[in-house]
Amino acid sequence: MKIDGNEIEKAAMGEFHKGNRAEGLRIQEEFAARFREEYAQKDHCPCQKACRYHGNCKECVAIHRAHEEHVPNCMRAMLNRKIRALSELTEHTIAREIEAPKEVLRNSISLNSGKTE
Ligand code: SF4
Repeated sequence: MKIDGNEIEKAAMGEFHKGNRAEGLRIQEEFAARFREEYAQKDHCPCQKACRYHGNCKECVAIHRAHEEHVPNCMRAMLNRKIRALSELTEHTIAREIEAPKEVLRNSISLNSGKTE
């Protein structure tokens, strides 16, 4: 089961947008139930950082809400897709002004260099 861009959850959102709240909730619970079953034991967290809170969404989200600097790692791809669309407004020239920070990953492979440390 893929979580990001899940078709069942997207269908639920489609119903919410049409004003069909009851049907949206029914479909959303179908997604949640499948998630619950499939990820009862399996790791659902895509974060590659070396972090003691890996997979512990409750504490991970609380930490990010507390420091208010950025969102949990699992939200990056979705937000980057939306930011990319905005970045087109300046022909992505913001890329000349920013550099992603170096990260310590679980497998000790840097996202920035791709080299093993
Ligand atoms: S909220 Fe944190 S722990 Fe949960 S999936 Fe996202 S990155 Fe992983």
